[in-house]
Amino acid sequence: MTQHVLVLGAGFSGLELATRLSETLQDAVRVTLLDRNGSFVFGFCTGPRIVPKAGIFAEAAARVVADDIAATIVGGEPPAPYGGSGVCYAEFGDGLVSKVEVDLLGGPAAAAQRHDPSREHAAEKEEFGATRRARWFGL
Ligand SMILES: Cc1cc2nc3c(=O)[nH]c(=O)nc-3n(C[C@H](O)[C@H](O)[C@H](O)COP(=O)(O)OP(=O)(O)OC[C@H]3O[C@@H](n4cnc5c(N)ncnc54)[C@H](O)[C@@H]3O)c2cc1C
Repeated sequence: MTQHVLVLGAGFSGLELATRLSETLQDAVRVTLLDRNGSFVFGFCTGPRIVPKAGIFAEAAARVVADDIAATIVGGEPPAPYGGSGVCYAEFGDGLVSKVEVDLLGGPAAAAQRHDPSREHAAEKEEFGATRRARWFGL
């Protein structure tokens, strides 16, 4: 019998959880994603500009939850625990973006590596958004 998984809340974690489960298990699972709102906005609309909002850590945790649910449904090893690492981007204007690679749980203390603003990081940030739009919304 096909298992039915209900994901309540289509934020960053809900979107990734539902997408990854569907990709991993395909026809072995029916996934329903429900949110109390009818739309999802990347960023806060604060007048003429949008303040960026990402969810890299929520997304990474959701992947572990998805893999754990998948292992429960089809059997197999549970995933490694959530690692607490991710990337944050910061815009500096003129097409320049810096990034910080953060590792919260991998060592004895949280660690971060800062990269100077560059156009390469700007392109990487654009690609980051594009892959999420494509995976989660088919855009
Ligand atoms: C301005 C801003 C900038 C940020 N920038 C970053 C960043 O650069 N990097 C980063 O990693 N994190 C960032 N964060 C944090 C990040 O946004 C959160 O960690 C992330 O949104 C958490 O995702 P989530 O899916 O767990 O929760 P949410 O994104 O809050 O999603 C929860 C969803 O559940 C729905 N919901 C709630 N209750 C119900 C209910 N009863 N029934 C149905 N649906 C329900 C809500 O409508 C919502 O869509 C930022 C946050 C803010 C505010």
